[in-house]
Amino acid sequence: MEAVEDIVIVGAGIAGLTTALGLHRLGIGSLVLESFDGLRTTGFAFTTWTNAWRALDAVGIGESLRLRHIQLFGVQAISTISGMSTAERQLDATGKQRDHEIRCMQRRVLLETLANELPSGTIRYSSKVVSIEESSHLKLVHLADGSILKAKVLIGCDGVNSAVAKWLGFRKPAFVGRSAIRGCVYYDHGHSFEPKFFQFFGEGVRFGFMPCDDKTIDWFFTFSSSSKNEEMEDSPDKMKQFVLGKLGIIPDNVRAVIEKTELDNFILSPLRFRPPWEILRGNISKNNVCVAGDAFHPMTPDLGQGGCSALEDGIVLARCLGEALRDNQSMKSEEEYKRIEMGLQRYAKERRWRAFKLISTAYMVGYIQQSNGKALTFLRDRVLASFLAGNLLKMASFDCGKLSAS
Ligand SMILES: Cc1cc2nc3c(=O)[nH]c(=O)nc-3n(C[C@H](O)[C@H](O)[C@H](O)COP(=O)(O)OP(=O)(O)OC[C@H]3O[C@@H](n4cnc5c(N)ncnc54)[C@H](O)[C@@H]3O)c2cc1C
Repeated sequence: MEAVEDIVIVGAGIAGLTTALGLHRLGIGSLVLESFDGLRTTGFAFTTWTNAWRALDAVGIGESLRLRHIQLFGVQAISTISGMSTAERQLDATGKQRDHEIRCMQRRVLLETLANELPSGTIRYSSKVVSIEESSHLKLVHLADGSILKAKVLIGCDGVNSAVAKWLGFRKPAFVGRSAIRGCVYYDHGHSFEPKFFQFFGEGVRFGFMPCDDKTIDWFFTFSSSSKNEEMEDSPDKMKQFVLGKLGIIPDNVRAVIEKTELDNFILSPLRFRPPWEILRGNISKNNVCVAGDAFHPMTPDLGQGGCSALEDGIVLARCLGEALRDNQSMKSEEEYKRIEMGLQRYAKERRWRAFKLISTAYMVGYIQQSNGKALTFLRDRVLASFLAGNLLKMASFDCGKLSAS
């Protein structure tokens, strides 16, 4: 007979582990199934904005992560066509609300910190979910090794190719005609960059970098492409030459960030998103199943909010489930099922517009930032640069609240 698990979370990424930790903080156990044989840390590092730090504080790991990632005190935009700075914003993180707190988070450090806070046995590695079946009030979760689990609640945090999102009726996320090359570079004796988020705009390309700590710099380069650039996928050398060839007018020490990056540290990702109208119409939850993170709202990286909003999802979902399952020991299975369904509906309602806004704004910002028409480039560099920087901060000021509603 298959074991019955109360809550099964598919995917031990940012969304899955935050949800599991949020539930754990509320005294609720869960089982996280991860297809990989360990924590998957592809992507090196990512920008964590104020909204993400609020979520990390809500699960009690913000302070320990702050100690390992330096704070960034500004966002600067520079044109690689003119070589001139087009916009600059100073960020103050000393206020009462910790307004505009930005750091560059190493994925490995975040995932390990989340995982280490969970009771042992919570994460089951090498456990790929291949299909889902209904069995009365339970879901049967079929794994690649042929085993089956029964779940009272099934949460899909299985990323952009989510099997759970497919079960809920979502289509495969669409390629947006742009790709990203990312990398990370380590300076043995420390780098000399200011603690800022530097962004460079050129013709149809965008390049950005920021320090994670005194020795590590994380960078990205996004570009328009009609194909997914499969020919570059297995050739970091080609990626490096491609990026270096497109950088335009930039200072030598900035070019050196790419030159110094080891070939093992280059990755290419075609950029995909879920069209926003699908978020408005689709099933974010359906009876006792729901999605979070990229499984729910894959977006282009132009706001740097995919991972941050996965953290928000984790807090809101844990809070809604925590309320639904409060005092459930004496509940009949029918009542428990109804409360779970309502809890997940509340989560979906709370997150739908936020996800819609993030996906749409990221797409629009990416379109303008990577424009290569003369008129739009002029507008972007002279008029819109400050508006775009403001948009990043506006989306980042969201507060997902605490784990407990009271
Ligand atoms: C170029 C680029 C730059 C980005 N920059 C930023 C940024 O600066 N800031 C930011 O906040 N976000 C950024 N993002 C987005 C961010 O990386 C994602 O939004 C985030 O990783 C989503 O987390 P997740 O947990 O939902 O999914 P994932 O990180 O994809 O985790 C999903 C997990 O599920 C597992 N899994 C998948 N399928 C199954 C299955 N069938 N069974 C079991 N396990 C499964 C996977 O192995 C993985 O561990 C960027 C993305 C890209 C592409």
